[in-house]
Amino acid sequence: MVGEGLYVNMTNRCSNRCDFCIRNNGDGAYGSESLWLVREPTREEILESIFSHELEKIPELVFCGYGEPSYRLDDAVFIAKAVKERYPNIEIRINTNGQSDLILGRDTAPEYAGAFDAVSISLNSPTPEKYQQICHSVFGEESFGSILNFAKNVKNYVQKTCFSVVKETLTEEEIELCKKISCECEVPLRIRDYIPPET
Ligand code: SF4
Repeated sequence: MVGEGLYVNMTNRCSNRCDFCIRNNGDGAYGSESLWLVREPTREEILESIFSHELEKIPELVFCGYGEPSYRLDDAVFIAKAVKERYPNIEIRINTNGQSDLILGRDTAPEYAGAFDAVSISLNSPTPEKYQQICHSVFGEESFGSILNFAKNVKNYVQKTCFSVVKETLTEEEIELCKKISCECEVPLRIRDYIPPET
């Protein structure tokens, strides 16, 4: 649990190695125990764990790191739809680095429809060069354009799609450029604080 939300950690895998990632300096966040998975739980195990909570009292379910959840997009969609079926009022969000098209090698945006109420995409930077400099994607500078494309596509399927940036990693000028990208893509921008690691 983080605040009032229930967070689902499905994988350690990630296509990035961001300088500010909580994985760099510790293995927890928000006072949690270690988030590093010894093995990836099956979708059935994840569902069992989710349903062990009093979901009628939980307003939000969030698919997020430790790793990049879209590595297991099929499973995340399956789980989200199963939860929605039993608890239609719970808000379901996925936090992603926006690289699912590159990770899975297909146009993934339509798959988010009907599973997630919100998609939060880490923009992290106003340019491909800076993105690569701080996020070190295995896909190189190509990743940045793919993230923007994904955002523009997925907002057609999930109304609450937004970009996020970490305030401490960018200059004011860079944040202004990110706002411009957000306007051009017609995807709102959330400027968030850095999450310190648990050591
Ligand atoms: S995309 Fe997220 S999980 Fe992956 S390295 Fe960056 S901050 Fe960490």
